[in-house]
Amino acid sequence: MKEAELRYIKGIGPAKASSLKRLGVESARELLFFFPRWHVHKSRIISISSIETGGKYLVKGKINGFEELRKPGRNILKVQIEDGSGEYLTWIWYNRPYMKAALSTGRKVIIWDTVENTRWGKQITGSSDTFEFIEEEEDKLITAGEILAFYKTTKLLTNTFFREVLAGLIKTDLAAVKEILPPRLTAKRDFNFIKEAVLKIHFPKSMQELEKARQRLVFNELLILQLFLAKRKKYFGNKIKKRNYRIDASITDRIIGKLGYTLTAAQMRVLEEIKQDLLKQAPMNRLLQGDVGSGKTIVALLALIPVIESGFQAAIMAPTEILAEQHYANFNKIFAQAGYGKAILLLTSKITAKARREALGAIAEGRIALVIGTHALLQEDVAFKNLGFIIIDERHKFGVFQRLALEAKGIYPDSLMMTATPFPRALILTLYGDTDLSVINELPPGRQPVYTKWQAEKKRSEVYGFISQRLKAGEQVYIVYPLVEESSKSLLKAAEQEAEQLQKTVFKDYKVGLIHGRLSSEEKEAVMKDFKAKLINVLVSTTVIEVGIDVSNATIMLIEHAERFGLAQLHQLRGRVGRGAARSYCYLMTGWLMSSDSFKRMKIMEETSDGFRIAEADLDLRGPGELFGVSQHGELDLKLLNLETDRELLEIAREEAFSIIEEDPELTSLEHDKLGAFFKERFSQDLEMITIS
Ligand code: ADP
Ligand code: MG
Repeated sequence: MKEAELRYIKGIGPAKASSLKRLGVESARELLFFFPRWHVHKSRIISISSIETGGKYLVKGKINGFEELRKPGRNILKVQIEDGSGEYLTWIWYNRPYMKAALSTGRKVIIWDTVENTRWGKQITGSSDTFEFIEEEEDKLITAGEILAFYKTTKLLTNTFFREVLAGLIKTDLAAVKEILPPRLTAKRDFNFIKEAVLKIHFPKSMQELEKARQRLVFNELLILQLFLAKRKKYFGNKIKKRNYRIDASITDRIIGKLGYTLTAAQMRVLEEIKQDLLKQAPMNRLLQGDVGSGKTIVALLALIPVIESGFQAAIMAPTEILAEQHYANFNKIFAQAGYGKAILLLTSKITAKARREALGAIAEGRIALVIGTHALLQEDVAFKNLGFIIIDERHKFGVFQRLALEAKGIYPDSLMMTATPFPRALILTLYGDTDLSVINELPPGRQPVYTKWQAEKKRSEVYGFISQRLKAGEQVYIVYPLVEESSKSLLKAAEQEAEQLQKTVFKDYKVGLIHGRLSSEEKEAVMKDFKAKLINVLVSTTVIEVGIDVSNATIMLIEHAERFGLAQLHQLRGRVGRGAARSYCYLMTGWLMSSDSFKRMKIMEETSDGFRIAEADLDLRGPGELFGVSQHGELDLKLLNLETDRELLEIAREEAFSIIEEDPELTSLEHDKLGAFFKERFSQDLEMITIS
């Protein structure tokens, strides 16, 4: 069914339609399913005078005035918020000079964040996703005591726009939203009907209504996901891969012999587990967990040797171009060292059309044994001759369907997923289906833990002094900025300015480089190459270096605004140093005063470098929803899912899905046909692949 184009809907038009498209919304239905990020209820707004610092509060007030404080290399915007309660709130923005453009005296704002007590009184540190400016008519609604939904907004797509358009769509298009849950299930679990849930997620009358709507919508997503896993299990579970691998230790031994180090016992054990899987008739489905730096890459390389030796192809997918390129260089080096001549090809999106055509030809004809790439591997025209083995590095960065899409390029290929995020086994089952687990639980010998120190701003010059010493000794440094929104031009400008500033002042005797997500792949590659070649001594970067980067001469990392990062991310980032024999250092630089959670995070980072302990602490501090990054699971973004409170919902979805597929695998019975149709419509391509025999 073709839906009316968005731009013809009242209140949208071409410009807004294209903005919506960038948010992934292309139809009326998708707009109805574009759920709010948060809701504000009048009763949750607190007056500034009754705030007790240390907690998280919802404050509504207006800008009373603001000033810009400039310090060397820093920019601080100090905004005074007033709400008529007699006290003021200081809303402080560090190094976000562009925020000034959004500030005007009298403008109303809602802020939802932790309130700290500082020398400026009650203070909230500005962060891009914890506030909304509110327009006059919104204010009236809030004051009227309604619950108001807030959306992911852009300059063009304001909250008012969303509310107005959605109010219209609810009248015109909600009726066409099909109920897919079997009525039996809706009744048994006392769920909202879908139309009711969609209406109430946007326009709830009470918090209870909102929660009920949220649960139904989360269940929808979980059920679809679980149906998929159940179906996959049904088809894959008893499939025979029809590949016999020749396992010949002489080649792997030769490669290992040239590595210059010995494998750890954990690496050997995991390799053996993988080997046993390869020998089985059923395709392997294994998750390899190993802390940052535990040496998963070499395990992947060795694991795929029997596959390509037996004449089948293997593919490795990595989440970033930098990482894919690094694997490519690394694998080539290791193959060359051992005099092993199998052809490796790098496939990313930056390749020229001509080179790509040739590459695709070579892959299709089987002239390439191993393809290393990014998401570019998933494109439809990438076809393999006989893909037998897929490896996904940094698995948690990909969606479930991306993984299945890669699998679909072979016939029941063996799959090895790798991650540094320690998921509990129960969760792996629920989110990923039936997966075997291998764990590398030791680091290579001689690794010294990275000396980690949390430093306040006033120690900055000391830290720079220490960095200069290490630079003099020939070592290299990363300086990381928390530019969460890589797409924001003005944010990048701030990083650029910092890099320039450092080059001109403290590090004028060294070469300062800059890398971020907005650079073209050639530019990124060039910067990384120069860093590896020590032509760059100090690399200022955003989190693009978060995963996988391996430059063992880099011994210091300075993380700016460390309080803005989550523990998992800090741990991943810190894993970029401490990769060689030299002692390594990580400095966490934070503002003057922080929330108690930030404080705990810094302390944990100082105390331990054990990824599993850090994950546990993270779970305590943040709850699992964020930790597992479920929002990245492709089409089903599970944005409304809260793993802490929805665990039961997750289990119900799994239980129901498996019993539905058991009873009616094709979803064609009268009870399930709507579910089946929805499933097919959304995932027709993926479905084809799990039904090939
Ligand atoms: P991760 O598990 O984070 O992907 P990598 O595979 O990138 O870790 O390995 C980190 C570094 O450790 C690499 O430089 C790699 O060559 C090295 N390495 C891997 N295994 C060993 C080992 N057994 N002994 C010494 N160094 C190792
Ligand atoms: Mg890795």
